[in-house]
Amino acid sequence: MSVYLDYQAAKPVDPRVFEAMKPYFTKNFGNPSSLHNYGFHATNDLEEARQKIAEFINAPNSDNIIFTSGATESNNLGIIGGALRNKKKGNHIIISEIEHISILNIGKYLEKQGFRVSRVPVDRFGIINLGKLERLITDETILISISTASNEIGSIQPVEEISQLAQKKNIWFHSDAVASESTIPLDVEKVPFDLLTLSSNDIYGPRGVGALYLKKGIRVNPILIGGGQEHGMRSGSENMPGIIGFAKAAEILKAEINEEAARLKILRDKLIREVLKIPKSYLNGHAERRTPNNANFRFDYIEGESLLLSLKDEKVEVATGSACSSKTLEPSHTLMSCGLLHEEAHGSLLLTLGRFTEEKDIDKIIKVLPGIVRKLRILSPLTPSDLLKKLQEEEN
Ligand code: PMP
Repeated sequence: MSVYLDYQAAKPVDPRVFEAMKPYFTKNFGNPSSLHNYGFHATNDLEEARQKIAEFINAPNSDNIIFTSGATESNNLGIIGGALRNKKKGNHIIISEIEHISILNIGKYLEKQGFRVSRVPVDRFGIINLGKLERLITDETILISISTASNEIGSIQPVEEISQLAQKKNIWFHSDAVASESTIPLDVEKVPFDLLTLSSNDIYGPRGVGALYLKKGIRVNPILIGGGQEHGMRSGSENMPGIIGFAKAAEILKAEINEEAARLKILRDKLIREVLKIPKSYLNGHAERRTPNNANFRFDYIEGESLLLSLKDEKVEVATGSACSSKTLEPSHTLMSCGLLHEEAHGSLLLTLGRFTEEKDIDKIIKVLPGIVRKLRILSPLTPSDLLKKLQEEEN
């Protein structure tokens, strides 16, 4: 069996979730828009699921939840729909330099539509600078979109302060909560997000379903036009098995999140402690202000890609960065924003833990990684000659 340490890219569906979904493929197949009994039962189940998602984020009312096809769509609906809704008020939007690729590309799209988009920089730990954010705000600013945490380096953003700033300036605050959703409890009463992106798979529900939370009184322009489902903001027949699975996943996680996050943090800290014993290895991101399941390293003289392939041969499955950005050959935009050099950003290894990670998985990577790093450094033309000699001696 492989050791899987890429939970940020994809998570298995929890078996309890899968059980809850099954009847919705067969006997409970009704469409909530139908007026007969099948439709009536589907409507009840849909609203119960909506209530569970509201409870998951402590939203006062389930009417504030719009089901979507996933985080990409929620980001599109929240940001593009929000921008179009406020077009008369202003044309300026602020995102951060280290947003998920879906948000970066929404920024580019909105620029083509005539909006002005600013990108707030981050410090070397990947945390946004509140002063710089405030200075970017103008009378034209209508929306700020900053994720709760980085999906690559796990850096936790000061969302409470950002929401206060946005409120003071009467600007909508959207946040993509996907990277922290499985390990840090969300409470929209405590942090008054105006719009919040949620994903089902990131909490061990099925892929292809997500939600957008909208604070009371907030509406966005639809980007999918059709039968007017989801309060007219997201047309299309509801994905009932997916929504039921998402709600079950949220119910399970709400009960288990603190215990789960504490368990993962212990494993993750052991991983970091042991990996940093390898000479000239570094942790990317912040040592403490990071999601409990994220570790992101870099190693001098070698590339992340070579490490990934060597680990794969040992049946340890890892990533070098965001799966969604893997189609570009560019180094990670997140690491570059943190001030890393091109070659440093190419040398990174992203390890994300999850519900089914066990201590023996961590022990396996700790056991094989030092030898792999040594072998690759021996082969690397970048390794300095004194270190090379030492490594060759160790290898023999
Ligand atoms: N935002 C973040 C932070 C992500 O990590 C991802 C990918 N899991 C997405 C958005 C997009 O999610 P999806 O591919 O499910 O639409």
